[in-house]
Amino acid sequence: MKVTVFGIGYVGLVQAAVLAEVGHEVMCIDVDVKKVENLKNGEIPIFEPGLTPLVKKNYEEGRLSFSTDAEMGVHHGEMQFIAVGTPPDEDGSADLKYVAAVARTIAQYMTSHKVVLDKSTVPVGTADKVRSVMEQTLKERGETIPFDVVSNPEFLKEGAAVSDCMRPERIVIGTDNEDVVDLLRELYEPFNRNHDRMILMDIRSAELTKYAANCMLATKISFMNEISNLAERLGADVEKVRQGIGSDPRIGYHFIYPGCGYGGSCFPKDVQALIRTAEQIGYQPRLLQAVEQVNHAQKMKLPEFIHRHFGEDLKGKTFALWGLSFKPNTDDMREASSRVLMEALWERGAQVQAYDPEAMDETQRIYGHRSDLKLMGTKEAALQDADALVICTEWQSFRVPDFDAIKKSLKQPVIFDGRNLYDPERLSKRGFVYYAIGRGASI
Ligand code: NAD
Repeated sequence: MKVTVFGIGYVGLVQAAVLAEVGHEVMCIDVDVKKVENLKNGEIPIFEPGLTPLVKKNYEEGRLSFSTDAEMGVHHGEMQFIAVGTPPDEDGSADLKYVAAVARTIAQYMTSHKVVLDKSTVPVGTADKVRSVMEQTLKERGETIPFDVVSNPEFLKEGAAVSDCMRPERIVIGTDNEDVVDLLRELYEPFNRNHDRMILMDIRSAELTKYAANCMLATKISFMNEISNLAERLGADVEKVRQGIGSDPRIGYHFIYPGCGYGGSCFPKDVQALIRTAEQIGYQPRLLQAVEQVNHAQKMKLPEFIHRHFGEDLKGKTFALWGLSFKPNTDDMREASSRVLMEALWERGAQVQAYDPEAMDETQRIYGHRSDLKLMGTKEAALQDADALVICTEWQSFRVPDFDAIKKSLKQPVIFDGRNLYDPERLSKRGFVYYAIGRGASI
């Protein structure tokens, strides 16, 4: 099938590559000229395991193409995916200007029936807005060309996006048209062979499903962080508590890790956007507000530990920082806990020596102008003559470090661990002062 994807970001690029891999002819359209040119030259703008070879192969074999020519994109596919960003507006609600711009573009150039699939995360009612933008544009052209708007939210996880799209747990389709369902069954057939993963529903339910999923996951994290704060004060170890509750299948072990707060491009913005949606309809979303508040506070845990140990004035102190991306296996630093930490340290006059396996270019792009940040080529180099080590991301390569070498490199054997990677007793025996999240019994 011929498919057009508007927006070549984490969602659009991965989805396009995966659709091309199973045989569809996919054209990707983006307004970012440099991104499109780079992709044509085989330069992939994001780090995502397995993505680079997939994109290169499908581009070379002619099933995947990149362009800034929106008109050509509209003519190419009967299926038109919208996968552009929906960043938070000033009040936290989702800014739909990019989504509306694509809707206008499609209606401006279409000459035959189109199925417009919304992959971006958008508030309930957005499909109606897309429809009305398109109807208005067609009216201005004096045309009455039929089209359908479908909600098809994306559930991929950054860091595992390719495998999530290749083997989706579910394909949520919100539509009011049975004929469209047949087309989508054909589109997603290759991903639906083992068992039927398509969950069909009305459009508004599909739009809400995506927010409900992300808010549920954010709630699990904030809940565990709340318990970790209690554990710290009550002399309990949240890691023991985590295992104790996870063994109950009604709770499960997934997504109940305490830490220095959730970040990324989705949870913070989607929790905020659902809060705004609720407020707009006169409902006070107490639980969601608490989830957000707990997370804000949690991102300040590491700076608080650091002040507890070194005092408020950090002038002349240098901190080794391991982990900059908001989670492992991505270079994405949007809303990362590392950013809150670094900014808090800089505010108190400290220097940072940072290392991340993938997010160094992104850090350079965001903070390259700062003289109080040094980007180091290895995790060992980041430790040299630093006063302490701080860990913000649980990359695999940080899990079993050479503690003797750490001790030798640091001025003081102090570790502030925002991801509970190590055994407190073992570290204490090795002579480290170890701060971790919610481990009151052990530290
Ligand atoms: P992104 O910022 O990485 O990419 C968006 C792309 O859209 C950019 O390349 C931008 O240049 C392009 N764009 C903007 N306006 C355009 C236009 N008019 N025409 C063509 N291209 C245009 O965003 P992302 O992380 O891929 O997220 C996209 C959407 O998917 C968001 O709504 C997000 O909430 C949702 N989502 C993201 C993830 C994730 O893990 N990143 C997961 C599920 C859903």
